[in-house]
Amino acid sequence: MKADGRENPRLFGVIGHPIGHSLSPMMQNAAFNALGLPHHYHAFDVLPEHLETAIQSMRVLGINGFNVTIPHKEKIMPFIDKVDEEAASIGAVNTIIRTNEGKLKGYNTDGAGYVQSLVDETGVQLVESHPLLIGAGGAAKSIAVYLLKSGCPHITIANRTLSKAKQLAEQLDRYIEKKDLLSHVHVLEWSDSLSVKDQPYTLFINTTPKGMWPHTDVLPVTLYNIESDIIVSDIVYNPLKTTFLEQAEAQGSIIHQGLGMFIYQGAFAFDYFVQKKAPIDVMRQVVLNHLQRDV
Ligand code: NAP
Repeated sequence: MKADGRENPRLFGVIGHPIGHSLSPMMQNAAFNALGLPHHYHAFDVLPEHLETAIQSMRVLGINGFNVTIPHKEKIMPFIDKVDEEAASIGAVNTIIRTNEGKLKGYNTDGAGYVQSLVDETGVQLVESHPLLIGAGGAAKSIAVYLLKSGCPHITIANRTLSKAKQLAEQLDRYIEKKDLLSHVHVLEWSDSLSVKDQPYTLFINTTPKGMWPHTDVLPVTLYNIESDIIVSDIVYNPLKTTFLEQAEAQGSIIHQGLGMFIYQGAFAFDYFVQKKAPIDVMRQVVLNHLQRDV
């Protein structure tokens, strides 16, 4: 803090590869501006073979915090000093801060961001829900841990590669045991289409990239016989409303778009970076303006 009460400028960023299309700099810089903070957020393109050196550089240059995206979320963990308990259970970090003691501490805000957005936008009672997670990659892991943390009694995973669905189920079973939860995790064989009638699932979550721009006509799975109290959710946010969601909406289901997850994971990272409540509406608007401009 300066003598006149103003904050000293600080540098934040995101590391990933490729990183050119990341919307995080636009979103985080808009948030700093909205709160009158003199900080800056920059995108750093870091090749996998340079990851360790990049982390040492972050330390030496005094970068105050950064987000981590594909493909570094898991591989970065051995190079930082501390990992928050939930991020350790997920096995991936997406947010790193430099503590007052100069240590790098990792968090994962993806799952919390997803759940916050889902509950806000749909009003779902997770303690009464049974999600079917489509996909078992990094995003699915963080979402699944937070769904369990939020009280889902059952979660089912369907993934193209069955062994990865089983691995994730085992990982979640360990989390359930560690946290003394009563939830159950199941695995469903992959299928390209699924009748929703007479199934136990109340919430379908696409966590695969299928349907993402420019391949917008592709569906992760074809859902039919959807009833009106079913929620269909997609974490892909470009396009804002995927074909998967359009088809579900046409059958009368409640839909949940992926943009909210992106905004909230960034907002929770912002809270860690500057210990201030993120200006969610500003962050959402700047990203929406950009995505709608590209339509
Ligand atoms: P990831 O770790 O690479 O996992 C991808 C998952 O999708 C795997 O389960 C993979 O199955 C499955 N998959 C990929 N291509 C497929 C295909 N053609 N058919 C069937 N399944 C397929 O990726 P991630 O980090 O989890 O990210 C997944 C998506 O979520 C990306 O589109 C990303 O942009 C989006 N995302 C959005 C947010 C947000 O804030 N809204 C946050 C994070 C990620 P296999 O195991 O068989 O390979």
